[in-house]
Amino acid sequence: MADTKESTRKLRLTETRRQVIFDKTGGHCHFCGDALVFALRGKWHGPGTGAWEADHVVQLARGGVDVVDNYLPACSECNRARWDNSGKRLRHLLALGIVAYREIDRETNTGKALKLAFDRAETATASRRARRE
Ligand SMILES: [Zn+2]
Repeated sequence: MADTKESTRKLRLTETRRQVIFDKTGGHCHFCGDALVFALRGKWHGPGTGAWEADHVVQLARGGVDVVDNYLPACSECNRARWDNSGKRLRHLLALGIVAYREIDRETNTGKALKLAFDRAETATASRRARRE
């Protein structure tokens, strides 16, 4: 049963492995393309800071393997937005977000309600983060 044990062991992300992962995209988030800061890895540093995480391309829960080849760098915001959503669900969320963004931008009643709900959710998230730190 040594093979089973080996395959379920968590890969230790050494400095060298993190550099290999980071360099795969030239130091950019594989979702949004924003520039990342190598030193700001593995921990939340706030939005737009260049903080990043090594992201499993095929999530472990979906049969992905914990090897360097299955990692790409992602900014912390994109990685947290992704969670364990499937590609289909992520595309749907993006499409919904575009519709919501237009409504907010046009300041329609729907847009105003969406902005309120979004701001409430952001405030709750910031509050949870502050309690954890
Ligand atoms: Zn990103």
